Amino acid sequence: MLNFYNKTEKLLEKIQIAETTYLFKYSIDKSFSFVPGQYVGIQTTPTHRRAYSIFKTDEDGIWFLIDTIPGGIASQYFEQVQVGAENLIVGPYGRFTLKPSVNKKVFISTGTGIAPFYPMVEQIKNSNEMENVQIDFLFGCRFFENEVSYEYFEPFINQNFRYIQCITKEENSDTTRFPSALFFNGRVTKFLQENLINYSKSDEFYICGNPEMVEDVKTMLLIKGYSNVFGEKY
Ligand SMILES: Cc1cc2nc3c(=O)[nH]c(=O)nc-3n(C[C@H](O)[C@H](O)[C@H](O)COP(=O)(O)OP(=O)(O)OC[C@H]3O[C@@H](n4cnc5c(N)ncnc54)[C@H](O)[C@@H]3O)c2cc1C
Repeated sequence: MLNFYNKTEKLLEKIQIAETTYLFKYSIDKSFSFVPGQYVGIQTTPTHRRAYSIFKTDEDGIWFLIDTIPGGIASQYFEQVQVGAENLIVGPYGRFTLKPSVNKKVFISTGTGIAPFYPMVEQIKNSNEMENVQIDFLFGCRFFENEVSYEYFEPFINQNFRYIQCITKEENSDTTRFPSALFFNGRVTKFLQENLINYSKSDEFYICGNPEMVEDVKTMLLIKGYSNVFGEKY
């Protein structure tokens, strides 16, 4: 049984990693616990609380990966907020978590949709039962400059873990920055459609990111007869 957390915490770090994407680290106390894939609510103004997936935790903090492109109240808040600010953190919430099976797992994300997958992959790597599970990790974006994902997942890449970069607007793989990535020119949906032969009906698909992408991938997989399809829409 997880403790329910409801506490005002301090912003300890704000790191810009792309034009509109930031890593935020808030203080958190030791009583906080979560299941990989879950999210918390962050109170940005007295009337606005938004959901953010837990990217990782360390000995004194909790990390979030936040894109301010939506441009609403929370986005504007996170653009201007300074280290030292205080925000109420409430949670954790959510059932977008790993199935405890040894089936092959396919993670599909765009943008900050990678956030819940980082602790999920760590959970797999730290588990005796699942450590050898086959993983395909798909990250989709338009340009290499929007590739905010690779550096976090590169340490996991091995014979059981393929990192597939789906870039829509640039054609040549940038092998210097992404030496162990497999490059695909096109959307994540197109990659899956062209490679369905590699996926069996027992494989699990976890999809996270912008709502249209999640819906498109989910619909395509369900039509093709896959049933272990789970999505989290931002
Ligand atoms: C379970 C869950 C987990 C999430 N985790 C993350 C995460 O880890 N990282 C992350 O970056 N996001 C995450 N999100 C999304 C996040 O909760 C917010 O929705 C996002 O930060 C945008 O908040 P906002 O207040 O800026 O925009 P909102 O007010 O929520 O705006 C929603 C939409 O309305 C439109 N809109 C808003 N304001 C304007 C405007 N002024 N002009 C035109 N259109 C406008 C935009 O299209 C926008 O996409 C998650 C969402 C969910 C449901």
